[in-house]
Amino acid sequence: NINELIRRCIIKLENFITQKDIDVEANFEEEDMYVRADVDSIERVLINLMHNAVKFVCRNGKIKVSTSRYKNKILVSVEDNGIGIDKNEIDLVWERFYKSDKSRSKEKGGAGLGLAIVRNIINDHRQEIWVESEVGEGTKFYFTLDKGSSENA
Ligand code: ATP
Ligand code: MG
Repeated sequence: NINELIRRCIIKLENFITQKDIDVEANFEEEDMYVRADVDSIERVLINLMHNAVKFVCRNGKIKVSTSRYKNKILVSVEDNGIGIDKNEIDLVWERFYKSDKSRSKEKGGAGLGLAIVRNIINDHRQEIWVESEVGEGTKFYFTLDKGSSENA
């Protein structure tokens, strides 16, 4: 149940979230949504994306994690209203050790590995991941997962 997993991840990040006084919203199309995936890997994906969102929001930070049905799959998105990613850097964020000029200059911690790991996990699941961003407006990561049944959830 991907929605339950998302709730657990929000709780795991609770400390960071309250420290920065961020508003986190979970927005699920249906109450229970089952996917066929490796739980630990997808937890890692969610934690990485949500941790990035927490790192890169500023004042009045808002993060929204959503699940919906999409082309016979489940679509998960993690959206923030943070600093955004420059058009000419957006294809590079998946590279190992890549950190944008902005995030380097702001001395945000991290090695620049999170998104490389995320993309590998999603590739291993034969799923898609993509990102939309506007500098100064925010960033939205999307990834798909195969639907599963409740029995093997
Ligand atoms: P690590 O994940 O290894 O702790 P990191 O967070 O810097 O370090 P990635 O998660 O791979 O590394 O992200 C790479 C870069 O992409 C970040 O340094 C940042 O420049 C940019 N980035 C990622 N997510 C966001 C986001 N939500 N908003 C703005 N920039 C982002
Ligand atoms: Mg990261």
